Amino acid sequence: MFQVFIIQNTGQSLKIQVLPKSTEVKIACVLTSFYYLCTQFFNCIALMINITLPDNTVKQYKPGITALDIAREISEGLARNVLSAKVDDEVWDATRPIHKDARLKLLTWKDPEGKATMWHSSAHLMAEAVEQLYPGVKFGIGPDIENGFYYDIDTGDTVLTESDLADIEKRMNELAKEKQSFRREDISKNEALKYFSEKGDEYKLELINELNDGEITLYKSGTFTDLCRGPHIPDTGFIKAIKLLNIAGAYWRGDENRKQLTRIYGITFPKRAELDEYLQMLEEAKKRDHRKLGKELGLFTFSQRVGSGLPLWLPKGAQLRERLEQYLKKLQKEAGYEPVITPHIGNVNLYKTSGHYDKYGADSFRPITTPVQGEEFFLKPMNCPHHCEIFSSKPHSYKDLPIRYAEFGTVYRYEQSGELHGLTRVRGFTQDDAHIFCTPDQIKTEFKDVIKIIMRIFKALDFNDFTTQISLRDPGTPDKYIGSSENWDKAERAIIEVAEEEKLDVVVEQGEAAFYGPKMDFMVKDALGRKWQLGTIQVDYNLPERFDLHYIGADNEKHRPVMIHRAPFGSLERFVAVLIEHCAGDFPLWLAPDQAIILPISEKYQNYAEKVSKFLKNSDIRALIDDRNEKTGKKIRDAELNKIPYMLVVGEREEGEGTVSVRKRGAGDLGTFTLDKLADIIHQEEERLQGIS
Ligand SMILES: [Zn+2]
Ligand SMILES: [Zn+2]
Repeated sequence: MFQVFIIQNTGQSLKIQVLPKSTEVKIACVLTSFYYLCTQFFNCIALMINITLPDNTVKQYKPGITALDIAREISEGLARNVLSAKVDDEVWDATRPIHKDARLKLLTWKDPEGKATMWHSSAHLMAEAVEQLYPGVKFGIGPDIENGFYYDIDTGDTVLTESDLADIEKRMNELAKEKQSFRREDISKNEALKYFSEKGDEYKLELINELNDGEITLYKSGTFTDLCRGPHIPDTGFIKAIKLLNIAGAYWRGDENRKQLTRIYGITFPKRAELDEYLQMLEEAKKRDHRKLGKELGLFTFSQRVGSGLPLWLPKGAQLRERLEQYLKKLQKEAGYEPVITPHIGNVNLYKTSGHYDKYGADSFRPITTPVQGEEFFLKPMNCPHHCEIFSSKPHSYKDLPIRYAEFGTVYRYEQSGELHGLTRVRGFTQDDAHIFCTPDQIKTEFKDVIKIIMRIFKALDFNDFTTQISLRDPGTPDKYIGSSENWDKAERAIIEVAEEEKLDVVVEQGEAAFYGPKMDFMVKDALGRKWQLGTIQVDYNLPERFDLHYIGADNEKHRPVMIHRAPFGSLERFVAVLIEHCAGDFPLWLAPDQAIILPISEKYQNYAEKVSKFLKNSDIRALIDDRNEKTGKKIRDAELNKIPYMLVVGEREEGEGTVSVRKRGAGDLGTFTLDKLADIIHQEEERLQGIS
């Protein structure tokens, strides 16, 4: 069968000796055993992979181990909660075999990526249910979103409405109980095209055509197969509570010229109680919806005649907004800002210089042209280019810097009508904009001062729960960024140091910076736990370059200033919307449309009530009179319901003494005060809330 040679290396020549048959068999046995031992040895030692856990402990496993196996080894309880896993920097299925050394983090419901895995998997589950209930439907995309997931579906001739959601939910619950596993399958581009052509799903075919062969995967769960790169939860049994929230129309790929698909939104949870809590929060959010409260409180309105997405501020809303502006103007004046005012339109060349033409030119409002000269103007999408021109309107010395130009500048950007939403998504809005022109060495103090302004605003408006995100360069792609590496280092270091000194709760994101500079964003959590991005401070090396801005340095040479864009509110429209929902229309005293209500105990005291009203008006206090023929108790209850902070009861004694009896909402009787004293009390409280006193 085979012959064995012994090869001897004698130093000078190789000596080959053929062995007798019996020896051959013996050697064959020895070799087989040796081979077996070797494989065992390599399996145990040489081919083990190192898995580094978040606490830096390193464990060795056979290649092919899964995150779920590792979780099970730690505890069965943990394994029941593992939704996916971060393997190095990618989120993977917890059931996907790991074949090489890796850092591993098990992801559960507590991790945002774990939640995202559950929600995206829920989109598959919903698609499976929809496909079973309405055979022949076709699928667009089904991603996870901030709160839940959606799937865009072409339902053909069937029209799905909200009333169908209960059936889909019911089917989803049944399928979830089946604990269907999600199976990942690599597939060639041709096979993928074949599968979806046979299925007749042109949307998936379009997506596959944009993918490269070798990077296409399918996921199968139950009867549903999807083109998907994953990851997914181990099985549908992890989904314990399901709520489909609403149905909307959505153009395929967001393109108004393409087919409108049916988008179904939903959310799922690993526990029933969490869903109940979420639904309760939604109920509360509905009550606080700024569109509803804005109407009830008479703050703003929209008119189709004026145009969608263009808010009209009513007197009470305009006054409230003005108070916000006055407050910020005061803080800015203290911090050395100078006001500027710029027009609502600008020549097209201005935006070509700034680069905004590339960004907004084709996809925003069409240009405005002049009748005779044929000049082209754009509605201002950003205030920055105008401020750059103000900076370059005269020469500057290093001694002039920093220069801080502030403007409540209204800008216009086109948004699709389907994207418009109350005051949070509009087509014309006013930014509390300012641009700081400074030297690279001044970035740190400027950031510090802007942060101080933002902190005062958050405090004055009771936004106590917020986090800060710092967006830095991707160190792997330094060529992507404009500006010298040295200046970037300096700015990034300054921002991180300031955040530490100000003791901010910071998340640092590498690679999230815009190409023109690092930035800092503030994410506020409102009273319902929803997150809003308010307030940005952005370093910019690009616009000073494009506008060729310079100052004369101490060395008598020309130098480029650094530009910092900053907007503590962001836009006044969006900020007011968030504020209304945060405080449920119960504004802090200094902002409240009505700060006091005068309650005469009978008609006899109407004249005195008017006298009090006049006095308060002259003292800059907003008050009204409840002159209804009602009992004082009822008037007080109604005033409390209307969230009016101060109730001023007037009768015979008060009129005689020239006083008012003061009740404060939520605090009860404060006693009787002269009008001067009352004005002091209110003004002091306003200043305390604004952080001024
Ligand atoms: Zn998927
Ligand atoms: Zn700007």
